[in-house]
Amino acid sequence: MVKHILVCDPLEPSALELLKRQQKIDVHYQPDISPEELKKTIATYDAVIVRSRTTLRRDTLERATRLKVIGRAGTGLDNIDVDFARERGIQVLNTPGANANAVAELTLILMLMLARNIVPALDSLKAGKPLKVKGIELQGKTLGLIGFGNIGRLVAQLARGFGMGVLAHDPLIDPNQIPEALRVVPLCSLDELLSQSNFVSLHVPLLESTRQLVNEGLLERFKRGAYLVNTARADLIDDAAVLKALEAGQLAGYATDVHEAGEPLLAHRKVIATPHIGASTGEAQRRAGEEIAALVLAALPDQNGDL
Ligand code: NAD
Repeated sequence: MVKHILVCDPLEPSALELLKRQQKIDVHYQPDISPEELKKTIATYDAVIVRSRTTLRRDTLERATRLKVIGRAGTGLDNIDVDFARERGIQVLNTPGANANAVAELTLILMLMLARNIVPALDSLKAGKPLKVKGIELQGKTLGLIGFGNIGRLVAQLARGFGMGVLAHDPLIDPNQIPEALRVVPLCSLDELLSQSNFVSLHVPLLESTRQLVNEGLLERFKRGAYLVNTARADLIDDAAVLKALEAGQLAGYATDVHEAGEPLLAHRKVIATPHIGASTGEAQRRAGEEIAALVLAALPDQNGDL
């Protein structure tokens, strides 16, 4: 029987080709589909592929009567009600690691931009009033990674290349499972990490246990004048507390890839921001797209695709 796959978000052409090449697979590519339209039509699909734009909550999934598989081309699953999907027997698949290098590189870019005041330097030059801004070097500074999964580990390697000392806090991993090359990064308590780090970078998923992890109480435990970098999720921080810490000089700067346009925090002079481009490289999108296409095809019942 022909299986219908809906692709709700932009997907790399090579990944779409992989899907379209299959016999008995009908691919519906609607990268701009509205939430209303998705709700109306989801009952006709066997599989849905999303990135981060589309959200699949209970009210939509309740209507997905023949859905067997949700594929998320990327890592975070916070746009999907995973528990409800699994309750209904729908498999939820993602591609952890496929875009990790892209996000790790952006993390280092943001750290360097904060350290060297690149935004005010660029703005001053473009305005015809060049400022000789003075910055700091990464070499010799300490980076604390909250979350030591795929992205955290790659950031650690890049930061060590810049001569930084790196610490990590991740109570959920087994230290014996850490590859030999990364054992140079000590795993420590959150307090130890915060008291020593000049830069703190967030690499945890958004869960109920991590929502507003960076709040007023936590910021007080930072080393005074530290920098905070967030390429993970906006809701990991309490915006008002971060603003207060920036004003008080407790934080020297905040860099984010994950806040929405128009949020008041973005207007602060010590905040630099990119519009969720962490995974936006050709390489990462190709890897994530092709991996999710292959996983979804393999998970569809009776689909003996030629991959
Ligand atoms: P991962 O699952 O490989 O690693 C996450 C780590 O966080 C795990 O090792 C887990 O044990 C740890 N963790 C969970 N709760 C914790 C806590 N309370 N304290 C400390 N550690 C905790 O995920 P990843 O691939 O490294 O991605 C991390 C996050 O980055 C994703 O969940 C996603 O939200 C975000 N992300 C952002 C972009 C972007 O475009 N900016 C792209 C990809 C991923």
